[in-house]
Amino acid sequence: MSTVLAICFEKGAGRKTLDRCLSLLGFRGPGPDWRLHDEGLLTATVRGPMRPGTLQEIGRIPGVAWVLDRTPRASPRGSVEIGRGRRIGPPDFAVIAGPCSVESESQILKTAERVAEAGATALRGGAFKPRTSPYSFGGLGERGLELLALARERTGLPVVTEVLDPAHLEAVARHADVLQIGSRNMQNFPLLFLAGSRGAGRPVLLKRGLAATLEEFRLAAEYVRLGQIAAGGDGRAVILCERGLRTFEHEVRYGLDVAAIPILQETTDLPVIADPSHAAGTARYVAPLALSAVAAGADGLLVEVHADPPAAFSDREQALDPDEFHGLMKAARAVAAARAAAGTGEPANRCGNETAGVRP
Ligand code: PEP
Ligand code: MN
Repeated sequence: MSTVLAICFEKGAGRKTLDRCLSLLGFRGPGPDWRLHDEGLLTATVRGPMRPGTLQEIGRIPGVAWVLDRTPRASPRGSVEIGRGRRIGPPDFAVIAGPCSVESESQILKTAERVAEAGATALRGGAFKPRTSPYSFGGLGERGLELLALARERTGLPVVTEVLDPAHLEAVARHADVLQIGSRNMQNFPLLFLAGSRGAGRPVLLKRGLAATLEEFRLAAEYVRLGQIAAGGDGRAVILCERGLRTFEHEVRYGLDVAAIPILQETTDLPVIADPSHAAGTARYVAPLALSAVAAGADGLLVEVHADPPAAFSDREQALDPDEFHGLMKAARAVAAARAAAGTGEPANRCGNETAGVRP
């Protein structure tokens, strides 16, 4: 039996505070079971039974702001507020839609208007793009962020966009409602923590790495959550996105891991959505994968839609046009309703991260 603790120090707390915490927890010097993160956050795993009252004692050490028990335990799944009064997570079904990349004012506005009409919950679009080839279009950068903000003003849709590098974090958080961390960065640990701690309180949409196990995915989310906690948040503003794994098969871009949806819903307290677009890689396979994810109980979808797919600068083969997206929305709603009527219900949560502890 072990207990996982997150202890946050007051600004300016020094070595003495750290030493007192470590000695109270029974640690002598550096070791494998504790670690000091940025923003004065100490995490520690206490092996074996912990003396009753330890949390309170730590909370009374001068320089300790608060202490939380992060030991995984059952806690109900919640929804995440993403701005403009919208939420992702149970009991709602949410759809994030938009182009792979923001390319121009007319492209993003046209696409945003069409996905809004079809009933999307939020607009997506990359301004800083991770691209396999250094010769491919890399996004419009800050100009792309401004265009996304303009599209939000026109449509009322909150904006989801990727933060690729800590150097862009401040600008992305200034314009976006939700910070996306892409597959290739799922284990960029400093970026994960910083998106939580320096992301201006914006929720994070975390995509599963293309060769990541579910445990690696959950632990990546925990970095973001600890960053949010270190910044005074509740560490619950993370949305998990299954987007397909690399397999030996080459007739589909990635293998959508549908089983990951109920498993993550059982083993975390976070909303779980699916991205059928990057998994399919081909527009005509997007709907079958999307509907399989909805049937499996996904809390939402992330779908690439472009006003004029053949003209797209990136991921053109998998982009739906606005009419196809409209059709998918209708079908997804029908499947979600059928699933609700069938009464399969919420998976029983086995393991969340209730943040019990001492906190002002
Ligand atoms: C994206 O959603 O724009 C993207 C690049 O996806 P992924 O990180 O899943 O490849
Ligand atoms: Mn894309």
